[in-house]
Amino acid sequence: MTTPMYLSDTYQKENTATIIKMVEMDDSLAIYCDSSVFYPQGGGQPCDLGSLIINGIAYPVHHVETTEDGIAHVLESHPSLLECNGMQCKQKIDMQRRLVNAKSHTAGHLISHIIEKMNSNLSPAKGHHYPGDSYIELIESERTNDLLSTAQINEQVNKLVTQAPRPIQSIELDLAEVQSLRPLLSHFIPQSTRVRMIAIDGFTPVPCGGTHVASTSELEGLQVTRIKRKKDRIKVSYSIHRG
Ligand SMILES: [Zn+2]
Repeated sequence: MTTPMYLSDTYQKENTATIIKMVEMDDSLAIYCDSSVFYPQGGGQPCDLGSLIINGIAYPVHHVETTEDGIAHVLESHPSLLECNGMQCKQKIDMQRRLVNAKSHTAGHLISHIIEKMNSNLSPAKGHHYPGDSYIELIESERTNDLLSTAQINEQVNKLVTQAPRPIQSIELDLAEVQSLRPLLSHFIPQSTRVRMIAIDGFTPVPCGGTHVASTSELEGLQVTRIKRKKDRIKVSYSIHRG
């Protein structure tokens, strides 16, 4: 399996690892290493891109995903690569893309926290953090007549991004603690003993395996653009300027 380096440090852009497995797929090759700095696509967040440097040659990574064997770095197949099992490789990610994705993802958490504080009947249910098409969905536990307005949410966003930014940490909690903090979400997460959570200072942590920035001050330009109701769900779209 692959040790995921991106869980401990969003800002780490390089890593040296050992190649432990290679799988050929038509014109592509999936390379597995003992550790990876690449975020694999999933959890509503696009994968990292970048390159693997093997024997001094940089091979572009086209796609990264999780399989039962670990994190697969998918690249164009090349005859010289087929002899590389067991060798060292250097991994480099496109840091600009990583940060765009981490900001967009963290923004989704911040907005969902702001909304659940405004209306305690709403709990985070889903996030789709693709830049250009970012939204979150919240489940309404009890139908209320509360109308959420984008202006009201954006006022809070602005406060937490520019006036009084909050630090953001990754923490690990026992499953029992997660069940008591987040009863609705705890059914949908892997039932492992320790659960990785994102904790924005002042808000209830949520389980998440994505990459997040270190402070809400990095979310400059964030704005909620649309709120739409779908049965018992509220869909909230947002955008964030790239920086
Ligand atoms: Zn997250």
